[in-house]
Amino acid sequence: MAEELLKGGNAVICEDEKGRGWKRIDSPSEVRINHNEVPSNISYKEFVFSKTEPIFYFKNRKENYELAEAADGNGKIVFLGAKPCDARSVEIMSKVFNWDYKDKFFNEKAERTIVIGVACSYKDEFCFCTSVNINPASPEGSDIFLVPLDEKEYAVRIITEKGKEFISPYLKYLTEGNAARSEEALGKIKWPGKKFEPGKVREWIGNNFEHKLFDEIGSTCLGCGQCAFACPVCHCFDIVDEECSYECGRRMKNWDACQFGLFTLHSSGHNPRDNQNKRYRQRIAHKFKYYADKFGEILCTGCGRCSRGCPVQIDIAQVAAEINSTANRV
Ligand code: SF4
Ligand code: SF4
Repeated sequence: MAEELLKGGNAVICEDEKGRGWKRIDSPSEVRINHNEVPSNISYKEFVFSKTEPIFYFKNRKENYELAEAADGNGKIVFLGAKPCDARSVEIMSKVFNWDYKDKFFNEKAERTIVIGVACSYKDEFCFCTSVNINPASPEGSDIFLVPLDEKEYAVRIITEKGKEFISPYLKYLTEGNAARSEEALGKIKWPGKKFEPGKVREWIGNNFEHKLFDEIGSTCLGCGQCAFACPVCHCFDIVDEECSYECGRRMKNWDACQFGLFTLHSSGHNPRDNQNKRYRQRIAHKFKYYADKFGEILCTGCGRCSRGCPVQIDIAQVAAEINSTANRV
């Protein structure tokens, strides 16, 4: 079936063999479904929200500027083996990319996406999906959901109409299953414990914008941006004109991060977030308050990537738990 999936212009994306990120595969031997291994260092968001992409090219034709649209592909983008903490990412980011302005670059790719999720049996001290209303057995965000039954066998559940349509040519490769067996497998999954209450974090941030807790944590943050780039739902970007001359150039959309000092620097020289304390506060407030206030979604899936990779061991779940205990003391 993997061979068939790779035909017909589909881009099949799996975690890479080193666990660094996700890559487009060319052969069935590269299929990896890591339901019981640590999530890759970075998520697959780059396949719907490109690290860098041209918006348009321009040429000066003396009287008028000539604009050329950037080209893109048109096959399906199939994420194969998305744990529940990855499977929800496109859905969560869609809220901001369709709010006041509809981002055609994101939407065009998101529409072509098929998420084949997998129930997750991995957990470590950094996982906290259950604290942000996700769980390792949840098919939410998946179009098709795999439940591992043993080393080689998966139960396949069709979750959405999009998933049903996508899988219909491949049904001949599947055999009739036993629903009780997949329920039993799901029931055996051990969930990570809940570390904090997101609603209390949200409420506390709203009332404690100037709290010293942000100074304590922000003073250790290096502003490297690893947390934002690894995250499945961080979505800041910048727009710049590159390779410019009077004659021609291109306008690019590039990943950016609120942890960078230049992110909010105005052309006047004023910077409203002029230290790392303010920038780290923005990270926490955006994830647990602003996004939740505006879109009813927490901007975090509890994958733990930002904490695993942070060079100074800032653990976002611990920060949220500390906010909860500070709130309880007041
Ligand atoms: S990875 Fe850690 S040090 Fe780097 S910006 Fe994020 S919180 Fe700060
Ligand atoms: S904030 Fe951290 S734990 Fe939450 S989704 Fe992003 S990388 Fe994962």
